[in-house]
Amino acid sequence: MISSIEKNKCTGCKMCGDICPSGAVDFKTENDGCWYPTVDEEKCIECGLCIKKCPALNIVPSDNNSDPAVYAAWSLNEKVRYDSTSGGIYYEVAKAFIDEGGYIAGCIFSSDFKTAKHVIGKTYDDLNAIMGSKYFQSDTAGIYKEISTLIKNGEKVLFCGTPCQVAALRSFLGKDQRNLYLLDFICKGINSPKAYTAYIDEIERNYKSSVKLVRQKSKKTGWQSLATNIIFQNGKEYHKDRYTDWWIQGYTCGNLFMRENCQECLYKTMPRQADLTFGDFWGIKGCSDEDVQKGISVVFENSQKGAELIQAAIKNLHLEKRSLDEVLDGNPYLFGQAIQKGNRSEFFELLDKEPFSKAVKETYTENIVQKGKRYIKFILKHVFKRKKW
Ligand SMILES: Cc1cc2nc3c(=O)[nH]c(=O)nc-3n(C[C@H](O)[C@H](O)[C@H](O)COP(=O)(O)OP(=O)(O)OC[C@H]3O[C@@H](n4cnc5c(N)ncnc54)[C@H](O)[C@@H]3O)c2cc1C
Ligand code: SF4
Ligand code: SF4
Repeated sequence: MISSIEKNKCTGCKMCGDICPSGAVDFKTENDGCWYPTVDEEKCIECGLCIKKCPALNIVPSDNNSDPAVYAAWSLNEKVRYDSTSGGIYYEVAKAFIDEGGYIAGCIFSSDFKTAKHVIGKTYDDLNAIMGSKYFQSDTAGIYKEISTLIKNGEKVLFCGTPCQVAALRSFLGKDQRNLYLLDFICKGINSPKAYTAYIDEIERNYKSSVKLVRQKSKKTGWQSLATNIIFQNGKEYHKDRYTDWWIQGYTCGNLFMRENCQECLYKTMPRQADLTFGDFWGIKGCSDEDVQKGISVVFENSQKGAELIQAAIKNLHLEKRSLDEVLDGNPYLFGQAIQKGNRSEFFELLDKEPFSKAVKETYTENIVQKGKRYIKFILKHVFKRKKW
């Protein structure tokens, strides 16, 4: 039964819930805030589909190119680039898709900015909600069935998600679908929704107001500052960077509240599951400092469909050919596993009693000397050179 899957394997893609023909699979959220499947034995008809199709128990094969064309890219629209997490390539590809009458499926924040889920949309308003990375797990319950229905009705769909969610969708549908276009990203690992909610709750308490807008990896102090920017209903603003924000400390440096299975991800590999793969072009050489501060995406063109998507958006993109080695120089998580450094179980126990920042501080503290060295390097490289834009 799928409910006996080990926690360090299950990706939480929720595809087994959608594929079960008798509605026997549901999900239980554990104390780490991550969900895992449960099976109602009375409803289960023992067809075995959940196990046969699970992308964590069976690697989903891909015919995509194992040596894809690699580009550095960004949107030519300054606002789109500013509002996006990297260079805004997702927005331009999805906008062109909507303009041709297609549906987009991706991740949005809940109205209180404390959880995230996958939805299907067709308008620019939908696109504005879907753009931007949310660095914690999105709830995908029902999305596989909804996409399947649209495809059966002859509609075109552009799905974007983590590589394991893309693998789950491909496994659910069973064969390559002409009308389905797939996007994924280089994925370090996904975080616990409970940790993220606790992080926002604490900041709301400190600012005595509820959140109106959250931007992770805000460009206000430059792309490389990895800052979180939060606007509150009372008009106040929170803006902290990689050295001062406890979420970034726990995730970027410690992988402290990441889903357990992400330490042994099956999809950090080539060929990719999706038609296009996006990422951050960290460490890119030969671009101006201004461009680096505005954000630069890496794009892998993994298939003919990927090439079609790029062609459709090309008039709104800056695109230059680069190599895989250049990407690997600055992006270890394309192939490398993210290893958790702090004490994860203690962190989640503490989180039940203490504010988020205290739980991070007490279970993960970076060596002070390393931190000091990184901070001085950052100041020398960016702060003195930074331009306002
Ligand atoms: C959890 C996570 C880890 C990542 N790790 C890396 C990394 O190690 N290296 C790297 O180069 N890039 C990483 N990225 C990708 C990077 O942050 C950008 O999303 C990517 O470069 C595309 O940028 P963009 O500006 O074009 O688009 P954006 O506007 O940022 O892209 C938005 C698209 O991403 C999807 N998305 C956003 N959040 C989620 C989510 N929680 N779950 C599923 N789909 C989501 C949305 O549906 C939307 O379609 C990660 C992204 C996420 C969400
Ligand atoms: S990886 Fe996905 S399909 Fe497999 S058990 Fe976990 S939630 Fe279900
Ligand atoms: S690291 Fe792998 S398993 Fe974890 S969310 Fe990303 S693609 Fe899925």
